[in-house]
Amino acid sequence: MREFDLIARIRARVRDGEGVVLGIGDDAAILTIDPGEQWVVSTDTLVSGVHFPLDTRPADVGYKALAVNLSDLAAMGAKPRFATLALSLPSVDSGFVEPLLEALIALGEAHGISLVGGDTTRGPLSLTITAIGSVPAGSALRRDCAQAGDAVYVSGALGDAAAALALRGVAIGADPAEKLARERLAQRLARPTPRVALGQALRGIAHACIDVSDGLTADLSHICVASGLAAVIDPLLLPASRALSTLVPDPDRRLQLQLGGDDYELCFTIAPEHESQLTSVASDQHLPLTRIGTLGPGSGVHLLGADGRLTLCTRGGYQHFA
Ligand code: ADP
Ligand code: MG
Repeated sequence: MREFDLIARIRARVRDGEGVVLGIGDDAAILTIDPGEQWVVSTDTLVSGVHFPLDTRPADVGYKALAVNLSDLAAMGAKPRFATLALSLPSVDSGFVEPLLEALIALGEAHGISLVGGDTTRGPLSLTITAIGSVPAGSALRRDCAQAGDAVYVSGALGDAAAALALRGVAIGADPAEKLARERLAQRLARPTPRVALGQALRGIAHACIDVSDGLTADLSHICVASGLAAVIDPLLLPASRALSTLVPDPDRRLQLQLGGDDYELCFTIAPEHESQLTSVASDQHLPLTRIGTLGPGSGVHLLGADGRLTLCTRGGYQHFA
């Protein structure tokens, strides 16, 4: 297969959704802007060996490349609309590229996002996706709108992805419960669920929101810096999955993993008088939403100790070129 054959296959597979005037095939796509809406645009690159291990299944590579972009749209409260895909491949091996595209396009369809263009080049394996979403004008969830007194919440559970990464290469025991737990964690690392519907449900309720990609303290500190506030987090409140608790019974080790990142949950802040609305959001979304701390004047993310003392988090989360 050559470049144009691959593009023709992508084009044949993709269905143009609402708002696509002209999709794949011309020099550029033409999209319609809805009155009263704003675009929300985000780009994320996944590089083989940096963002995923070299032996990752191609379907998981395709899935995760789009999932992390959908997670950024979710964190803004945006509805996914369009995406472009810049693909760099060592060779056009259909056994590799077909499952990659299939998983990527299937996830896109599940979230109503149309692939409207891209680029295809030879090079080390990497995928750059630009995701475009929309929000009613002025309603996007931002990092800089948190307020003193807000409660800090996180969706789902934390630490599964970091645990899966830490346990790679560690032999799985014969215990079926352990085996199942290991599979659950591996799935959370390979196929994180972008909290797209939650993000949209939080519009008008949450003050600030971010997705947890680099680690809870690193990501929450972005909200603190942008909003000029300090956060106090109670580590005992951080939600852990049953799989994580089974495999990592030591609470200190578990906490380390829960701060590890790559879970793509949403961390958001909300005024105490609006917290009661979260009960129905959580039940609509079939997703636990857990209060993990509060925001107040000051700066930095602080962990509350069992003795009541606060520790400033200096661990910066995952940073390239660190
Ligand atoms: P150009 O030379 O104008 O950049 P290309 O030959 O690169 O055009 O691309 C032809 C069409 O195919 C364009 O509409 C482009 O957006 C689309 N396209 C190329 N690669 C991809 C890809 N990996 N995924 C989706 N669309 C792609
Ligand atoms: Mg091109």
